[in-house]
Amino acid sequence: MKPAKHLESIKPSYIREILNLSSSKDIISLAGGLPCPEAFPLDLITQLMPTIAADSSLYQYAQTTGHPALLEHLKNHYSLTATQELMITNGSQQGIDLCARLLIEKGDKIVVEAPSYLGALQVFSIAQAQVCSVPQTIDGPNLDYLETLFANNTIKFFYAVPDFHNPTGCCWSLEKRKHVAKLCQDYGVLLIEDAPYRELRFSGKTLPMVSSFCSEHAIILRSFSKTLAPGVRLAALITPKRYTPLLNKLKQAMDLHSNMPMQALVLALLQHKDFERHQMKLIGIYKERYQTLATKLLPLQHKACDFTAVEGGMFIWLRLPECDTFALAKAAIKKGVAVVPSTEFYTEQTTQESAIRLNFSFNEPSILTLAVSKLIGVIKTSEQVMHNF
Ligand code: PMP
Repeated sequence: MKPAKHLESIKPSYIREILNLSSSKDIISLAGGLPCPEAFPLDLITQLMPTIAADSSLYQYAQTTGHPALLEHLKNHYSLTATQELMITNGSQQGIDLCARLLIEKGDKIVVEAPSYLGALQVFSIAQAQVCSVPQTIDGPNLDYLETLFANNTIKFFYAVPDFHNPTGCCWSLEKRKHVAKLCQDYGVLLIEDAPYRELRFSGKTLPMVSSFCSEHAIILRSFSKTLAPGVRLAALITPKRYTPLLNKLKQAMDLHSNMPMQALVLALLQHKDFERHQMKLIGIYKERYQTLATKLLPLQHKACDFTAVEGGMFIWLRLPECDTFALAKAAIKKGVAVVPSTEFYTEQTTQESAIRLNFSFNEPSILTLAVSKLIGVIKTSEQVMHNF
């Protein structure tokens, strides 16, 4: 029996494939979006695990929406309004998939930022959505372009990552946050605000979430992958209450419920007196790693490459003169450094920027320094792939 025809067009994840390759000891990977493993709160987990291991109530089938005490904690923590509801999912990746199943019928139009998070593009492609893209500027989406898309099409939702975007690291300005929320309200477009990097701010001022200006028109995805550890695979999906009954059915059909002992662990970690200290440590590490990467990249500015400084998150988006970024990324692997070419973050129909995404959270400063020296070597010798160089 043949697999479904529409699945043939799904792009494989370059990052997943490159991760296999770059796990080789000879290659430094700036490709994945991996958190710093030394900052996983292993001391706290070791302390908390014995109680969780001995609690038999955590090992029975449980309610679909999540561990009741964790739900309660998060509703307070995220200050949910009376019309919002929260569900625990297996990572925000499952939250994105649930949104697609809930909202998309084959051929429905949705809007994403260009470039956009590759895992979301995969989900929307499986759901057979018609994906429209709005170009990104340094402080958020191009508003005129977005309004034209909203005005001339029936758009189901706008999926966006306003805090420390993946892949660009961009953070939307307050003005753009308010304006996008107003556009969503005016044109009846649901906003899906994906915020896995929001807590990873090491400088500047935290801005209100876009959804705080249009909560009736918004779904919010929060994740514990970046603040705790991605292997935990837990996240929170916040939606208007009207969607709860259907979301429950969808999640039931997918997996009945998320892992209960892990939910109990997340709750215990969030309530631990030293959790804030863990977060401060994490942010301190990311700040140092970002500064190292940013400083080491500066010489490339003479080579017409540039990047916008970021205030948090995990990525630098290094813009290059127009070139085949895929060929450049391949050449980089040969020299021992893995990066992700910008082509991976766009749908085919969009104008694409020549750039590479560089991760700074995973490697320690000395390794980042070595990786950049290799990368500079590759870029300097890549005139054949870099036109106008
Ligand atoms: N959204 C974005 C923007 C991401 O970058 C990622 C993963 N890096 C996810 C969602 C999925 O995260 P999770 O581990 O919570 O499934």
